[in-house]
Amino acid sequence: MMRIDILTLFPEMCENYLSESIIGRARAGGFVQINCHNIRDFTTDKHRRVDDKAYGGGFGMVMQAQPIYDCVMSVLGLQNGAKPRLIYMSPQGKLLTQNLVKELAAEPRLILLCGHYEGVDRRVLDELAFEEISVGDYVVTGGELPALILADAVARLQDGVLPSPEAYTDESHFSGLLEEPKYTRPEVWRDRKVPDVLISGHHGNIEKWREEQRLGVTREKRPDMVGG
Ligand code: SAM
Repeated sequence: MMRIDILTLFPEMCENYLSESIIGRARAGGFVQINCHNIRDFTTDKHRRVDDKAYGGGFGMVMQAQPIYDCVMSVLGLQNGAKPRLIYMSPQGKLLTQNLVKELAAEPRLILLCGHYEGVDRRVLDELAFEEISVGDYVVTGGELPALILADAVARLQDGVLPSPEAYTDESHFSGLLEEPKYTRPEVWRDRKVPDVLISGHHGNIEKWREEQRLGVTREKRPDMVGG
C-alpha cells in the first residue's frame, strides 16, 4: 500500500481534510496510508521554537533546519522498504500536473514537507536533497493546502480508492483533454433540456457525442492543450 507522510506545523489542518469523504474512507479501508507529523514535536529548543529571523534581514520568519531534519529522520525510521521521494511544497517548484500526479502515484512512499511563514532554511532542503513541487504560480500562506492537493490527487489513483479506474481515466487531464459536460435529473430544468443524445439510449452515438464534446470543450476553454 502506498504511504504518504506529511510534515507540518499544523497537522490538525491536514488531518481534518484527510479524515473526510473519499480519502477518509480510503485511509480507513486500508487502500492508502497517509500520516501527518508535527514538526514542532522534534524541536530541541526549550521554548519549542521552530522558526527564527532571516539572516540578512527581510520580512518574516524562517523555519529552522534542525526540527525538520529530525522529523524526516524519524519518519524514515518508521517507513520500511522502499526509499521515499522527498518533496518540499514550494511556489518555486516544478508545476504539479496530472502527468506528474500519475508518476508520483506509482511511488511506494512520499514525504511531503510543508513550509510556513517565509519558508524553510535552504540548508535542510539541500542536505536531504528535497525536490520542489508547486501547485501553481501564486503564493499561499503555508504548504498544507498544496500538500493536501498533491496527496488527494495521488491517493485517488490508488487501487480501490475510487470504484473503478474509469472514475479517473475518463476525467479532465488524464488523457490530455477536458471532460464533456455532465447532466443529471430532471430532464428539463428552467427550460434547459438535457441533450437528446444522452437520453436516446444509443451507446454508440453517446460515445461519439462525448468524444466531440471533449475536443470542443478543450478547444474552447484550453486551446493551449490542443495546440491552439
Ligand atoms: N518566501 C517564499 C517564496 O517567496 O518563495 C514563499 C513562502 S510561502 C508564504 C510559505 C510556504 O507555503 C512555503 O514554504 C511553501 O511550503 C508553501 N507554498 C506557498 N505557495 C505555494 C505553492 N504555490 N505551491 C506549493 N507550496 C506553496
